[in-house]
Amino acid sequence: MIELPEAVVLAGQINQTLVGKRIKQVVANQSPHKFAWYTGDPATYHDRLGGRTIRTAAACAGEVEIIADEMQLICSAALRFYPAGEKRPARHQLLLAFEDNSVLVATIQMWGCLFCVQQGEPVGFEDYRLGRERPSPLSDAFDRVHFDSLLPEDLAKLSAKAFLATEQRIPGLGNGVLQDILWTAKINPRRKMDSLKAVEQEQLFRAVKSVLREMTNCGGRDTERDLFGCPGGYRTILSKNTVGQPCPACGALIQKEAYLGGSVYFCPVCQIKEA
Ligand SMILES: [Zn+2]
Repeated sequence: MIELPEAVVLAGQINQTLVGKRIKQVVANQSPHKFAWYTGDPATYHDRLGGRTIRTAAACAGEVEIIADEMQLICSAALRFYPAGEKRPARHQLLLAFEDNSVLVATIQMWGCLFCVQQGEPVGFEDYRLGRERPSPLSDAFDRVHFDSLLPEDLAKLSAKAFLATEQRIPGLGNGVLQDILWTAKINPRRKMDSLKAVEQEQLFRAVKSVLREMTNCGGRDTERDLFGCPGGYRTILSKNTVGQPCPACGALIQKEAYLGGSVYFCPVCQIKEA
């Protein structure tokens, strides 16, 4: 999977690099991956995409949508472009070779989709449908009124991490970007949403907007790579790169714990566990 800032960056780079390239050959599922999802049989991908020309790309939640004539490719995977003659990885879940001998390679990390449908055809993936229907946190439509509408009736059951990063409440916001959002809002990932004071709810809303915008404007996070294999320009405050290092706000050492199916990072002073 990928998350919103990196999806926006990849889509922009595809628009600058791949538009007008005609697909010569498609290899799907070369390295089978348990959690790589295709539309039907990956062996049909060459027939579906071969001969088509890349027209445009856009980000939608944590997916990059690539339009190739009448076909649509929906990828939630690391995407990498290799010019003609450059060494390509041996392992991948999708490879598009273009007539100029450059290639686009998709590799799935934890899990991810590589759907291929005709434009307008249903994709048949609930998370994708929700990601398209709900306002992007980068858009003006994602305002405080909308944010409040996402809060369910029974807040007591929900931690801040679960609120932000489950059920596609906020399209493209996953376990990666949420770490710096919660640090910026000074909220521990385990805090129950009903324990947040009004001022903390406002901090959380503002952090969702500002941190995602900054990550996107900086070309994605430094823990992820762009279409050309370069790390993003956003320096993560809480990530595998910074665990055990001093918090830039208070100097306490950044901690890592397993929580809700993934690691959480936090500052034990800035983000105390209970209010
Ligand atoms: Zn701190």
